[in-house]
Amino acid sequence: MTAKIIDGKAFAAQIREKVAAHVARLKSDHDMVPGLAVVLVGEDPASQVYVRNKGKQTVEAGMAGFEHKLDAATSEEDILRLVDRLNADPKVHGILVQLPLPDHVDSSKVINRINPAKDVDGFHISNVGLLGTGQKSMVPCTPLGCLMMLRDHHGSLSGLNAVVLGRSNIVGKPMAQLLLADNCTVTIAHSRTKDLARICRGADILVVAVGRPEMVQGDWVKPGATVIDVGMNRIQHPDNPDKTKLVGDVDFAAAAQVAGAITPVPGGVGPMTIACLLANTVTACCRAHGLPEPQ
Ligand code: NDP
Repeated sequence: MTAKIIDGKAFAAQIREKVAAHVARLKSDHDMVPGLAVVLVGEDPASQVYVRNKGKQTVEAGMAGFEHKLDAATSEEDILRLVDRLNADPKVHGILVQLPLPDHVDSSKVINRINPAKDVDGFHISNVGLLGTGQKSMVPCTPLGCLMMLRDHHGSLSGLNAVVLGRSNIVGKPMAQLLLADNCTVTIAHSRTKDLARICRGADILVVAVGRPEMVQGDWVKPGATVIDVGMNRIQHPDNPDKTKLVGDVDFAAAAQVAGAITPVPGGVGPMTIACLLANTVTACCRAHGLPEPQ
């Protein structure tokens, strides 16, 4: 069997088109421009790339982008002051603080200082609680992107066995909540889980977010299952030691022989994450002004 490749890049382009159309309507009908502020502290190379891409796509969708690049030594107090300013700024509808923050900064304190209505990453404790109790919230972008691809592929997810490999606050846990809300039977696996391969083999839907290059083998996948690979790992290129290569947490070649559908890396979850961030910013803008939200 050869799996259907779920094209996250094409799907994300469709979402961005819808976002841009909604933004254009907000401008023409309400003279309103959704604004996204991104805060980057320090010079982590991967974070710099993410922030640059987010800024570029924000502007391409017709929205206002505000980038705040702070020195790695910036004090927690100063970061909190900036968040307060952005909370109070009516031009800013979404605030994203790029993680990880430097060690001397308490990330939870910074994230929980963001006005929950502007928390487009969905990491504020209020949004976490709302999601966990099935109430309207800001949904974290990466799991939201995964859910959209799964719904698109399956239609209904009701009754399917889902295994989420990884229990981080930003991917694994919210992913599990979303699948539960869509009536999957959800298992969350992690580094202490026993007999991981057997548990993964029971999954109709396998979402992998561990940060371990190509850890999930072909024989961990149930024939016909849908595999969503969240992992983004830069490894040495097998054919050229001077180059690097981006791989997921799943052995793609082997898993694609067994799965019914699978996301590639790159071109799967990654582009969906940024598209969902833009969509969340438009949603935040509409909610702030009591306007209908994009569907
Ligand atoms: P974390 O490091 O925060 O969490 C990793 C999780 O995987 C933990 O729950 C950990 O278990 C579990 N884990 C680690 N090793 C093993 C193992 N050998 N067996 C079983 N479970 C294991 O990572 P994130 O959730 O932040 O990210 C995961 C991956 O997704 C990374 O590659 C990251 O780069 C990528 N990512 C991609 C995004 C995108 O847009 N495509 C966005 C965000 C992340 P335990 O809790 O027991 O330690």
